[in-house]
Amino acid sequence: MLIRVQDLEIRRQEFHEQLPPGAIDFGAELRQLGVMKVDGRAELVREHRGSREYVRDIRLVGELAGRVELNCARCLEPVGQEVNRSFDLLYRPLGVDRGKEEVSISQAETEIGYYQGEGLELEEALREQVLLAVPLKAVCRAECKGLCPHCGQNLNEGGCGCHEKQEDVR
Ligand SMILES: [Zn+2]
Ligand SMILES: [Zn+2]
Repeated sequence: MLIRVQDLEIRRQEFHEQLPPGAIDFGAELRQLGVMKVDGRAELVREHRGSREYVRDIRLVGELAGRVELNCARCLEPVGQEVNRSFDLLYRPLGVDRGKEEVSISQAETEIGYYQGEGLELEEALREQVLLAVPLKAVCRAECKGLCPHCGQNLNEGGCGCHEKQEDVR
C-alpha cells in the first residue's frame, strides 16, 4: 500500500490492515505466522527550512501485532516470536538532507527515515519495524547445545560420538 504525499495534503490517512503472510517480504531469515495486524495513521508534517521553504514529511504512527518464526542461531530449529510494537516515525523526502551527513546521523536515533518519489510504501516501513522488534540472533532456549561442528548433528537430540573419537586421536 503506497501512502501518497499528495493524498496526505488533503487529509490524513488511517489504516487498519490484516496482512497475510507474504504481504511483507521478510526474506529467507524470517517467516510470518498468521496475519499481521496493523493499525495506525499517516499524516503530513510540514517541516520548515527557512522562512518560506518547507519539507513535506510523512509521519507514521501506529502499532503492529503478529507472530513470526526465525531459526535458532545455534541449532537452526524454528523459534516463534511474538511481535508487538508501537511506532512513531518520520520520513523525509530522500535527498533533502544531502550534504548534512552529521545532522542525519544524530537524528537517526529519533527514527527518521526517507521516502522516495511520491510516497512511502507502508509494507516497507512495517518490514523494518518487525525486523527491529525481533532479536538479531534468536535461540530456541538458553541452554541450546547447537549443532556438532563436525557432523552437523543437533546436539539437543543426543550426542553424536564425534567428541569421543577426537579424544581417541589424542
Ligand atoms: Zn537451538
Ligand atoms: Zn558430531
